[in-house]
Amino acid sequence: MDLEHWLTTAAEAIGDWQRGYGAFEPHPSLNVSDEQFGAAFGELTRRLTDNYPFFHPSYAGQMLKPPHPAAVVGYLAAMLINPNNHALDGGPATAAMEKEVVSQLAAMFGLRTHLGHLTTSGTIANLEALYVARELHPGKAVAYSTEAHYTHGRMCGVLGLAGVPVGVDAAGRMDLGELDAVLAGGQIGTVVATTGTTGLGAVDPVHEIVAMARAHGARVHVDAAYGGFFTLLAGQAGPAGLDSAPWLAIADCDSVVVDPHKHGLQPYGCGAVMFADPGVGRFYVHDSPYTYFTSGDLHLGEISLECSRAGASAAAAWLTFRLLPLTADGLGRVLAAGRLAALEWAQLLRESAVLDLYQPPQLDIITYFPVTGGRALSAIDGGSASILQAGMADGKAPVFLSTLRISADAMHARHPEVAADADGARILRSVLMKPESQTYATALHARVEELARQLPQ
Ligand SMILES: *Cc1c(COP(=O)(O)O)cnc(C)c1O
Repeated sequence: MDLEHWLTTAAEAIGDWQRGYGAFEPHPSLNVSDEQFGAAFGELTRRLTDNYPFFHPSYAGQMLKPPHPAAVVGYLAAMLINPNNHALDGGPATAAMEKEVVSQLAAMFGLRTHLGHLTTSGTIANLEALYVARELHPGKAVAYSTEAHYTHGRMCGVLGLAGVPVGVDAAGRMDLGELDAVLAGGQIGTVVATTGTTGLGAVDPVHEIVAMARAHGARVHVDAAYGGFFTLLAGQAGPAGLDSAPWLAIADCDSVVVDPHKHGLQPYGCGAVMFADPGVGRFYVHDSPYTYFTSGDLHLGEISLECSRAGASAAAAWLTFRLLPLTADGLGRVLAAGRLAALEWAQLLRESAVLDLYQPPQLDIITYFPVTGGRALSAIDGGSASILQAGMADGKAPVFLSTLRISADAMHARHPEVAADADGARILRSVLMKPESQTYATALHARVEELARQLPQ
């Protein structure tokens, strides 16, 4: 699709609708001349060049990429109206779109019933899930793995809940033996399972966690902020397919969070939380004499901790999923390409003389480290940092990676031959979330190998 054409068309379509209400004089206080605008805008676009090229396949660092053009056009069209999805009075069209999008997300996870809404972020979505966890099990604690997102520990603090970290196995997944021991204490109200940890992309065994938690009367919340859309690859044939057991088990959990602004091709400002039991809506009851008046139907603000939210986010997601539906053949193809890139690069790393694979990728994140300076944590740490810096600084053939700090124990569990001459090390990490990475994996690997060879021996 021609982005420029559709951006103009979006502005025209909204202008046509606005003109239907009759002409009026804009207030002079808002006037700016094209000359003034041009000068300020020139400054803006200049300043925006101070960015890493998230759009380009040479950017293989953090979880960052531009939204799909359909999301950009959908967002712009709705933003020109600027509906507020707090209340139906703030934007009936986008509120309806939000309910449709959330139903699609709930169906993707196989939830048989649901109550949910979009949020500003995965952090707020998880806060809501933990808030409901507290209301249902007051005084009880929340268990999450040591590889879970830091938000769980922090939000437990915000909510006045005790958070209990549970150790992980040698692949970064929640350790079931440790979880069992923690649950046996009888103090856990909710277990948080992560399907796709932010650091390693590790998938907790949700199916086994659910059975264990239920046996102890605990609830299960799934943090699928990063990994959730990979459920589209569960049980699929071919190398990109994933073992379906953890993904199918999400349908048996109490709540799930997914971030359309990570793998759903959306601009920032789009997370989502869904509860299997619509009855949890009772915990959101509040009096709002000023926002709800045109209809007795459910307003999204009545089931959300946030008040104002961009209706444009719902419009962008709705339009995107109309074109790339939440199926293996739709958005699934985008995820499969990144996963294949990770598998291919992982194989090259196993065969490399100057780099080594930290652990096999479970989704589309790969982790690796240089071995040119010897197999010791201090050399790996310094080498990883040098490769990161040298890759970005190269004007001709730059490559953008990220680092991940791992503990000496975590390295020992995977690579016992590495000398533990420090308590941990930075290693290299690449999130291959752009489908273009698939054709670029070989080039990325070659480039990083070249940088590794330049390290002091
Ligand atoms: C990114 C992430 C979060 C936080 O979500 P934001 O949208 O960045 O606020 C929470 N949990 C996991 C697993 C994540 O990957």
